[in-house]
Amino acid sequence: MNIHEYQAKALLSTYGVAVPRGGVAYTPDEAVQVAQELGGGVWVVKSQIHAGGRGAGHFANNPDGDGGVRLARSSDEVKAHAAAMLGQTLVTKQTGPEGKEVKRIYIEEGCDIARELYLSMLIDRGSSRITIIASTEGGMDIETVAHETPEKILTVATDPVTGLMPFHAREIAFGLGLSGDQIKSASKLLSGLYTAFTDLDASLVEVNPLVVTGSGDVIALDAKMNFDDNALYRQPKVVELRDEDEEDPMELEASKHDLNYIKLDGAIGCMVNGAGLAMATMDIIKLYGSQPANFLDVGGAATKERVTTAFKIILSDPNVEGIMVNIFGGIMRCDVIAEGVVAAAREVALHVPLVVRLEGTNVELGKQILADSGLPIVSADNLADAAEKVVNAVKEAA
Ligand code: ADP
Ligand code: MG
Repeated sequence: MNIHEYQAKALLSTYGVAVPRGGVAYTPDEAVQVAQELGGGVWVVKSQIHAGGRGAGHFANNPDGDGGVRLARSSDEVKAHAAAMLGQTLVTKQTGPEGKEVKRIYIEEGCDIARELYLSMLIDRGSSRITIIASTEGGMDIETVAHETPEKILTVATDPVTGLMPFHAREIAFGLGLSGDQIKSASKLLSGLYTAFTDLDASLVEVNPLVVTGSGDVIALDAKMNFDDNALYRQPKVVELRDEDEEDPMELEASKHDLNYIKLDGAIGCMVNGAGLAMATMDIIKLYGSQPANFLDVGGAATKERVTTAFKIILSDPNVEGIMVNIFGGIMRCDVIAEGVVAAAREVALHVPLVVRLEGTNVELGKQILADSGLPIVSADNLADAAEKVVNAVKEAA
């Protein structure tokens, strides 16, 4: 799960991470009010979407205009920027060409930037350690830095037993060319980030840029946080920050029914129980020359309700030209699954070819139920047979 920049900053500041003062706004008038409350004479108006690269992005209605992060020197400018952003679609490197609608903005006090650095913390799956990545090349795309000047990337792995140690923080501070009080300031920030990371079950915290201000403070000027979905049950404070507007509507619907669904770009919708079987199904669809439209694991209990929801989700994708159901009846019996598939197919008024491969307990009875249903369901005997049949059925229908 992801959250907005302003939410990440609010969370991190409770852990002692230094961030600029700011406030969220939903209308241009609220934006002006926030700016007045903050005081000062320079503000930054920042579009809040779940994607980075906002500063260098552009609005769809004004491709040559300014991006989603803008400086303002008066209330009128704050208002004008707010009006230009709210309700408009911001396109960045990370949103894809369709962009994302800006529904909230963050008004922040302008910061006197002396240096822009890069800092992130993530779980390195290779070493199973929380790893810190830092670079003097802040404010830019870190992937580009890693590609073009890998020597400018500093990587420090922490030990899960001892956590972040003072020497880790010093290694990073020295690597970033900090000195004197800046080192203390950076150490405090790092220790806050680490505690927040572990306390909140984060999977990524990225601060780009981390800045050194004119007066030598080290503060987080941007903040991105991702959380481990499997830990959300014990993170009610994080769950409260969920912005459903930012999520793929179908993935959201699926998560409400405990279905593991990820939309992909192909034409064959897949409904499978078990993540491993789902992966194998996607592979074999590719082997037979087509592409999967989704990853979908309906889980162990493929009940009629879940199968129906899964069908609805798959069919709501306009790219789907055929569906392959591949279910292993271990705990669930194949006849029960077949009844679920038939009932669901009737309910959703299926309009694309459907190939079903069942295996396991009561498989013959299950196939009989599919055959007797009177629906144009094609039964398959094994994984390869099912993939071949669905790919061919889609070709014939085209
Ligand atoms: P994104 O990464 O989505 O483009 P950032 O929050 O990193 O958004 O902002 C882009 C750039 O805007 C930063 O690299 C920084 O130069 C500038 N910026 C952002 N916030 C402020 C601020 N409060 N004061 C001054 N400059 C800022
Ligand atoms: Mg940034």
